[in-house]
Amino acid sequence: MAHRTDALQQVEVPIRGMDCLECTHHVQHALAALPGMAAVQVYLTSEKAVLQMEPALIDLSGIRQAVEGAGYSVPLTPATPEVSSSAHTLASFTRPVLTLFGLVVGAVLLVVVAGEWLGIFERVTERVPWWLGTLLVVLIGAPIYTNVLRAALRRQIISHTLMSLGVVSALVVGQWTTAAVVVFFMYVGSYAEHFTTERSRQAVKRLTALAPQTARVEREEQEQEVAVGEVQIGETVIIHPGERIPVDGIVLEGQATVDQATITGESLPVEVHADSHVFATTIASLGHLKVRTTQVGADTTYGRVVQLVEEAEAHRAEVQRLADRFSTYFLPVVASIALLTFLVSRNPLATAAVLVVACSCSLALATPIAMLASIGAGAKRGLLIKGGKYLEALAQANVLFVDKTGTLTTGRPQIVDIVALAHLSEAVVLQLAASAERYSEHPLAEAVCRTAAEQHLPLEEPARFEAVPGAGVRALVGGKQVAVGNARLLSEAHQVGTAQDLEAQGKTLLFVAVDDEVVGVLAATDTVRPEVTQALAEVRTLGITHIELLTGDHEQAAARLAKELGIAYQANLLPEDKIALVKTAQAKGQVVVMVGDGVNDAPALAQANVGIAMGAAGSEVALEAAHLALMRDDWSLVPEALRIARRTMRTVKLNIGFTALYNLVGLSLAALGLLPPNLAAAAQSLPDLGILANSSRLLRAPSAPRTRR
Ligand code: ADP
Ligand code: MG
Repeated sequence: MAHRTDALQQVEVPIRGMDCLECTHHVQHALAALPGMAAVQVYLTSEKAVLQMEPALIDLSGIRQAVEGAGYSVPLTPATPEVSSSAHTLASFTRPVLTLFGLVVGAVLLVVVAGEWLGIFERVTERVPWWLGTLLVVLIGAPIYTNVLRAALRRQIISHTLMSLGVVSALVVGQWTTAAVVVFFMYVGSYAEHFTTERSRQAVKRLTALAPQTARVEREEQEQEVAVGEVQIGETVIIHPGERIPVDGIVLEGQATVDQATITGESLPVEVHADSHVFATTIASLGHLKVRTTQVGADTTYGRVVQLVEEAEAHRAEVQRLADRFSTYFLPVVASIALLTFLVSRNPLATAAVLVVACSCSLALATPIAMLASIGAGAKRGLLIKGGKYLEALAQANVLFVDKTGTLTTGRPQIVDIVALAHLSEAVVLQLAASAERYSEHPLAEAVCRTAAEQHLPLEEPARFEAVPGAGVRALVGGKQVAVGNARLLSEAHQVGTAQDLEAQGKTLLFVAVDDEVVGVLAATDTVRPEVTQALAEVRTLGITHIELLTGDHEQAAARLAKELGIAYQANLLPEDKIALVKTAQAKGQVVVMVGDGVNDAPALAQANVGIAMGAAGSEVALEAAHLALMRDDWSLVPEALRIARRTMRTVKLNIGFTALYNLVGLSLAALGLLPPNLAAAAQSLPDLGILANSSRLLRAPSAPRTRR
């Protein structure tokens, strides 16, 4: 449960019983007051707190006490098994339960309205003595009042505080039936809140439920089934057809067809064989596999995705910050309106109605529920969105910067020409270059090494390898100083005659130098990803007015590609130039989306309002660097993300508008004495359901037309 980070230690504590943002604040305050606590982040949807503490001061029972003192609980065992067994059944129940719930509320509302109209309540009041009615109200509402009192002792006002005051005022004027109806709807309202948060938790819970619990490992020549947590890195795991792969790893033996939808959202299966990477939670079929484990549990690509989705709540959208700030003033404002109503009208029932009708929780839930639904829906499609903040920015975005190599292009460039300049042969030039590039992760480096391997050239082990971002590599190969890269790396490269012809053809050039003397040139071409054209066309219809290619490659290569795609370009850029360009655009008030490969573009991605990384499956760097990670290399996910973002923000605005209007109308009617308190209480649980219904649409929103190779 605990990871070390520098001097502080991170502790994750599961917390139960939180139904509303209000609750997270209570837990937050309680935990922040503990000694040695540096930072606390409480997550409503994943039901946990992440604490940064001084290791010496960690006291788990103290943490538990603090949480319990605030009125919540810490389960004794970690949540995983419980989650995985209940998630599916819960998910399949939610819709009928929701319908039933709506029906019950509707029916009760009808009874209340009809009862009011026919005067049934008055008749009941006449028959039952007032003291009995009052006792009844006190008894049935006891758990709520205790909560309110407990909060009051902690100097906190919760939404039930005001409603309880409403109950008291109804009782004071002898309207115990009204008070009873209010209490009943306080329970209904709590349930609605619980249901709404629980429902939105499903998005995350459904993800966690996919992780296999056991793995079959090869130990001492024997197959042995062990808990996934016990698998060691480097151990061999055996996977039979139809099974979910339990770990991340590299195939040692066997062949299979793997459905990687849980990671990439792509339902077309891929073929894997020796040396292929496989991911935990994907399903193997049509063959047996032996896999060498590289990552287990939370460290797998899938584990990281789940964790990032769980923690997405921390990156709040600006609208939510506003709503949060507003809701802290909300209760005092309502209390003042109630006081004013009483002073002006001297009508205790109108006062009670004001106290009862207000609905602060829905305001706080309006944004996160919608964000979470979209983040969950995105994760299922291979689109990892790290927070509501980024959905908000995407919906406002107007500039798109794209990187070239590995982003617009397939990232598998081919070496098409090899020119030997000095006394060396072509094979030796290639061999030197490949040896120097051996440990570079750049797509061009891979192309060089691949070509060398195709020609069966033995590589040498480079010493003192150094990668120069945006330029190339330097390494000591067999005692010689070898450099491979562009003109930026090798200034005298300009004098190479043949280079100009190759450049004019739009090829990317790699100069190879030994001890500062250029001995050869390699020319690479790369093909544009086939779905790019269509994706860029869609992007233009989604609020993006300017698309620009930013590349470290030379002028001609950039110009050629930019012309083909009909976009602007800037060439010969260093990674820091890209950052500067993003900053300049932002200074002009533009909201910048940047799509890059996540490895050598990481800083520019981080600077952009929304950084989107391609090829994040299996690449920890890309997964960490981006705000939005594409789990499969498919440009159609970019317009898809924009569409999801816009739809989410529309839903959020509708949710907020609805709640605001509801409170405005409700409070005005109540203050004017036009809304009887029991009706006000009944209406109080409606906004939650409205928000839930509205936001649920995001979970099953139809997928947009997809571009396909
Ligand atoms: P882009 O911006 O198109 O993704 P990079 O910034 O990754 O390009 O690299 C820019 C240029 O730097 C490449 O076109 C290439 O000329 C050179 N370069 C970068 N890394 C390498 C490498 N490992 N080997 C050879 N050339 C490299
Ligand atoms: Mg790049």
